[in-house]
Amino acid sequence: MGWMSGKKVLVTGLANERSLAFAIAQQLVAEEATIALTYQGEALKDRVGKLAETLETRLVLPCDVGQDAEVDQLFATLRREWGGLDGLVHAIAFAEKSDLEGPYSNVSRRGFLLAMDIGAYSFTALARGAAPLMEGRGGSMLTLTYFGAEKVIPNYNIMGVTKAALEASVRYLANDFGPAGIRVNAISAGPIKTLSARGVRDFNDMLTHVAGKAPLRRNITSEDVGSTGMFLLSDRSAGITGEILHVDCGYNIMGM
Ligand code: NAP
Repeated sequence: MGWMSGKKVLVTGLANERSLAFAIAQQLVAEEATIALTYQGEALKDRVGKLAETLETRLVLPCDVGQDAEVDQLFATLRREWGGLDGLVHAIAFAEKSDLEGPYSNVSRRGFLLAMDIGAYSFTALARGAAPLMEGRGGSMLTLTYFGAEKVIPNYNIMGVTKAALEASVRYLANDFGPAGIRVNAISAGPIKTLSARGVRDFNDMLTHVAGKAPLRRNITSEDVGSTGMFLLSDRSAGITGEILHVDCGYNIMGM
């Protein structure tokens, strides 16, 4: 029997086959989970629909996390279709390209609020929608963060500040929902070339640097994130909540 057998999981943040959400979704399906996927706007419906076919997923739902009405509608649909929910994957972030280069101090009010809204607040909004569906089922919520929340990474700028808020949200949400048996965790993934990662200036230099310094002397793969994500969504991680788990080939332990 698969680790996720009988479990229903909502996976957000799928843009293409390089998305970390796709890697997690693949592992979930391999371990016999039933999953639902979301897409942002009609333009992306077909692209996510094609990925859903490869995952043999029937439920593909619209959700722009910047729109409260779409978030409400998403959970209303899941309640109608599934009745309950065992897992939530939040793999969403956005910042203006101009805010991912040069000095952090140049960030505009608009750019700051946009990144915080889509990258940090959205996890709280989705968690609030998911929690009532998880009650009595030992649900697990997962988001994706990056080391730029803890230390200064050149050009990561507003995304680092956003990820710091996201990581704090993980702890507060874990405390809110823990009494109902619901767990909330994050994976702090090492750099990996995806669509949104390309928006960070000099991203290739980050990859070269990490591969040279990390104890494992390599960059992570999307499979590394997928399998750890599946573990955190499964009952095998039943005692873990409020945790920021680094999947970074050990890079974060280095002082020099
Ligand atoms: P990705 O494939 O580009 O995924 C980002 C997703 O966010 C896309 O599906 C994007 O949808 C979605 N999104 C943006 N704005 C949205 C909105 N308003 N409503 C709904 N969805 C929205 O890149 P990724 O690297 O896999 O990113 C997934 C998560 O991992 C992000 O939180 C990222 O910060 C985090 N992470 C990435 C790395 C890395 O190096 N790649 C490292 C650590 C953490 P559209 O394509 O439709 O805009």
